[in-house]
Amino acid sequence: MRVVSELSSSTRSSGAVLGLRCRECHRDYPVAAAHVCEFCFGPLEIAYDHSVWARTVSRASIEAGPQTMWRYAELLPAGADPDTRVDLGAGMTRLVRAHNLGRALGMAELWVKDDSANPTHSFKDRVVSVALSKAVEFGFTTVSCASTGNLANSVAAHASRAGLRAVVFIPADLEAGKVVATGIYGQTLVAVTGSYDDVNRLCAEVAGELPWAFVNVNVRPYYAEGSKTVGYEIAEQLGWRLPAQVIAPVASGSLMTKVDKGFRELAALGLVADTPYAIFGAQASGCSPVATAWKNGWDVVRPVKPSTIAKSLAIGNPADGPYAIDVAKRTGGALEDVSDEEIVAGIRLLAETEGIFAETAGGVVVASMQRLLATGQLAAGAPTVLLNTGDGLKTLDAVAAVSQPSYTIAPSLDAFRASGAADPVTLKGVQR
Ligand SMILES: *Cc1c(COP(=O)(O)O)cnc(C)c1O
Ligand SMILES: [Zn+2]
Repeated sequence: MRVVSELSSSTRSSGAVLGLRCRECHRDYPVAAAHVCEFCFGPLEIAYDHSVWARTVSRASIEAGPQTMWRYAELLPAGADPDTRVDLGAGMTRLVRAHNLGRALGMAELWVKDDSANPTHSFKDRVVSVALSKAVEFGFTTVSCASTGNLANSVAAHASRAGLRAVVFIPADLEAGKVVATGIYGQTLVAVTGSYDDVNRLCAEVAGELPWAFVNVNVRPYYAEGSKTVGYEIAEQLGWRLPAQVIAPVASGSLMTKVDKGFRELAALGLVADTPYAIFGAQASGCSPVATAWKNGWDVVRPVKPSTIAKSLAIGNPADGPYAIDVAKRTGGALEDVSDEEIVAGIRLLAETEGIFAETAGGVVVASMQRLLATGQLAAGAPTVLLNTGDGLKTLDAVAAVSQPSYTIAPSLDAFRASGAADPVTLKGVQR
């Protein structure tokens, strides 16, 4: 195991953290900046002493916390001390009852967990806040990541807030919105001429050379735990109950597995009733290694070369793919994938029915939900939460062609009359 020895290994972590544990062979390791088991190369996860949680965590203790994801600090592996926590206020985003979209799709109780409202407009702020809090506790002064865009935005912003140096790596063909929204924080942005998977491979090599905290390499076990807060918040915002169905976008597959982990932890602690739930994963057909493995009944996820407008989900070799499949299998969920045209239609449908402008990942989720419904895999009558993980303003190009002025006219009343813009028959928009 790589432990960066010149850095302080003493940490003030959550009292319940026992250390790291291999997901495959269950060997235990001390708390360190490490992510791979040295015996079997399995991924390391945080191991907790659940009896500590049983003593310290209650609905009341959580409800007394801040209106951010840090109300669950006790259940996270970093950031116990609010003074050293790296925090821009991520989390406690809206859980919106989607009456209109539900009606359009024939669903009885549909909700949208809208993570586009996070500080840098994607759910990545949750994982980054935990990862950088842990990096600071370890004594790192430079943080880094390989990113499909949103992670770069979030790492750069949180690093600037915390006075850390950030070096973030992105594929050179990223959406302009994501490049600009990262560069503005004044950190070092390295564009690599290659796919995300090339960028990730490069990052793993750099991580072997430099004493930096790589949020999705050596501090990934801490990073990944931040996604549990999506599950916690959904349960709390539903009045401390679990939904029957959740649909999550899948890139590396981590978010999907951690929503499940969050639900299981709340049920084990008795904070929610242990009711059954199914977790579904959504991918773009242009990068659907996990959905493809699911549909073919493979137990390995075969890497693909991504080609889709859903760039935030374009990971061809997803680290948590097999675990995402396990979650779908165990909970009675499934994985689905949709075309770029369906993604655009999904973005429009969510915007036109609920006033929520999602990035491409949100379109993937809406369109996949429609397919899961049409094929009878999703139950229309059961309480369902769909995750919108990012803001449409970051992927404007994806929908620019279908979102233009209805009319362009001269500034005169005559021109307005002649245009037909006020004619009820030609009024553009969804009819309900
Ligand atoms: C990163 C990301 C995801 C999925 O993340 P994984 O945990 O890697 O599966 C989903 N949506 C958006 C917008 C993202 O940026
Ligand atoms: Zn192992």
